[in-house]
Amino acid sequence: MAARAEQAVDLPDLDGAIACCFACPRLVAWREEVGRVKRASFRDQEYWARPVPGLGVADARLAILGLAPAAHGGNRTGRIFTGDRSGDVLFAALHRAGLANQPTSVWRDDGLALRDTRIFAAVRCAPPDNKPTPAERDTCAPWLHRELELIKPALRVVVALGAFAWSAWWPAMTAVYGVRSPVPRPPFGHGVRWTGEQTPTVMGCYHVSQQNTFTGRLTPAMLDEVFAEAKLLAGID
Ligand code: SF4
Repeated sequence: MAARAEQAVDLPDLDGAIACCFACPRLVAWREEVGRVKRASFRDQEYWARPVPGLGVADARLAILGLAPAAHGGNRTGRIFTGDRSGDVLFAALHRAGLANQPTSVWRDDGLALRDTRIFAAVRCAPPDNKPTPAERDTCAPWLHRELELIKPALRVVVALGAFAWSAWWPAMTAVYGVRSPVPRPPFGHGVRWTGEQTPTVMGCYHVSQQNTFTGRLTPAMLDEVFAEAKLLAGID
């Protein structure tokens, strides 16, 4: 699987290879079981039930790094952050920031297009309880590393949604840019920013999960601030 990731010549090739990955037995079993059992409100739909590739343009100056697809969101629709409440919050914010052409993301062919932005997750399969293990993160890392390599020429800023994505960034940075992580690593926090000499700036942002957005820990105004700063740092008008 790592060899296949390295061989990917472009994003469509990588996306196709990711969608055929079976490297994590626990996650393969879970994504398929969710697709068989389904949520009652989606019982007439055919779930994607496979790994979910990244979304967005190859010349993205801004990348958004998430945790993993949601069982009844990306694992159902086949597109990251699509068809769930987290995506509703994220795409509304991206639309306000002028980075998405529409404020909603409900299905693969709904006409959504991103500007200057690529979105992907540290782990590409839906995990039980939204909690992938560190070992599963490490197994999935070659996909992330290759995706970063392919968008590296334009990439300026990475927004890491939550501590898990933050933790996935540092080995990715070393693998892709050949730059060692700072010691000690900056702890995750909303608004934390770290810039290396030859690497994109990484920004911490609370995850757009319902746990954070329903409780007011992460508000639309806070997301607007993050994307305004990210655009500024990335040189996006
Ligand atoms: S989580 Fe990543 S490495 Fe594991 S099966 Fe899914 S795509 Fe493959």
